[in-house]
Amino acid sequence: MDGAPGMAGHVVIVGASHAGVQAAQSLRQGGWSGPITLLSAEDRLPYQRPDLSKAFLTEDRPDAPPLKGLPFYEANDIALKLNCRVTAIDRALRRVHTDSGETLGYDRLILATGATPRRLSAAAENIHVLRDLTDARALRKALRPGQRLAVIGGGFIGLEVAAAARKAGAGVILFEAAPRCLARALPAVATGVLLARHRAEGVDLRLACGPVAAVLDGTRARALRLADGREIRCDAVVAGIGCTAETGLAQAAGLTLAAGGIAVDAALVTSDPAIQAIGDCAAFTPPGAGAPLRLESIQNAADQGRHAAAVLLGAATPFAAVPWFWSHQYDLRLQMAGFPCPDAPALLRGTPGEAGFSVLHLDARHRLVSAVSLNAAADHMAARRLIAAGVPLDPARAADPGQPLLHAQADAA
Ligand SMILES: Cc1cc2nc3c(=O)[nH]c(=O)nc-3n(C[C@H](O)[C@H](O)[C@H](O)COP(=O)(O)OP(=O)(O)OC[C@H]3O[C@@H](n4cnc5c(N)ncnc54)[C@H](O)[C@@H]3O)c2cc1C
Repeated sequence: MDGAPGMAGHVVIVGASHAGVQAAQSLRQGGWSGPITLLSAEDRLPYQRPDLSKAFLTEDRPDAPPLKGLPFYEANDIALKLNCRVTAIDRALRRVHTDSGETLGYDRLILATGATPRRLSAAAENIHVLRDLTDARALRKALRPGQRLAVIGGGFIGLEVAAAARKAGAGVILFEAAPRCLARALPAVATGVLLARHRAEGVDLRLACGPVAAVLDGTRARALRLADGREIRCDAVVAGIGCTAETGLAQAAGLTLAAGGIAVDAALVTSDPAIQAIGDCAAFTPPGAGAPLRLESIQNAADQGRHAAAVLLGAATPFAAVPWFWSHQYDLRLQMAGFPCPDAPALLRGTPGEAGFSVLHLDARHRLVSAVSLNAAADHMAARRLIAAGVPLDPARAADPGQPLLHAQADAA
């Protein structure tokens, strides 16, 4: 980065969630002595977002667990400003403007603005999305016995909400436009186990249903209309149809965008050397990948927060973390490591079903490139290490669930 302010300049971080809070923490831990200001458009202490589609929906508690308690920000001299939305970046004068009329100068700016859920074209009081605590509180009220929830989209959010709704006693009908749920993320065998479990729990799964539309009755949706014109009655709708990166600020400031996100290099620096972007909003090109991409996961947000801080603190290594992700549905714990390649040749480790198993993808040199594990946490932990190490495996040993995956390295020739 140009004109580095040493370790004493003012770092302003826009967005105080998994990525932004991690960046602030890592800066202080690494010895940054200058002021750190963390700006949040939300009105509450930054909290654990994954909880919102899982336990929070079925438990009677007001808040999601905070990422850090207030004493953390005070003890680390991190100025956390809540209810403070940045409305513009003045790159020439290195300052940001907020919706309260405040202007803040910066030496380094980190954009951690996250993503926004896609919405249906129709809006109604009982059509929900799920991104923040306010969304989750509203949705939770709709998950009651006797109520029928229509979930649009069979991605991770849609499936987790379906599981929570069943646990809460609501009826669930889930619509997925494609013939297969999670086709880009999971091998068919893993999706098969997940969906079988949803059906066994009473979820009415409608795959390959094409686009659906909400049918409104005044201010409420009363049904969904299928592509063939049939209407399916419901009491509430949740749209789990993906997210778009929050790039508005960056775009208005003239920063380069790519792959739907804010383009960054291996140091997570944008097209302006004084500005980094991290987490869901950032588009980076992983080593060996031909094109930029965005990842939406806690691991990526936290690792990029750590990396952005390390860059400001003087480290020069490129960002190359092994991505991983988890989802929790009923008592099924799905964990993924590496970049998904669901249609590549796979090794099955264990027997698909309720007991744990993993699907391993090896490259031509028998190096592990991705692993999907269901109730097989030890495999997942080993997979993360093996992918990072890039060592060849013995396929027979890797596929043998009787031997720890970590011991599956091929013997040196
Ligand atoms: C319901 C749900 C469940 C999930 N479950 C999992 C899971 O099980 N596992 C997993 O790995 N990932 C999960 N994720 C994804 C994970 O939560 C995200 O990848 C992660 O939150 C990204 O962190 P972030 O800091 O980049 O962005 P975000 O968490 O989106 O935070 C961005 C913050 O920036 C604020 N902001 C935006 N614009 C401005 C502005 N102009 N001024 C000030 N503030 C601004 C936003 O209000 C927000 O608070 C889940 C996400 C959701 C919504």
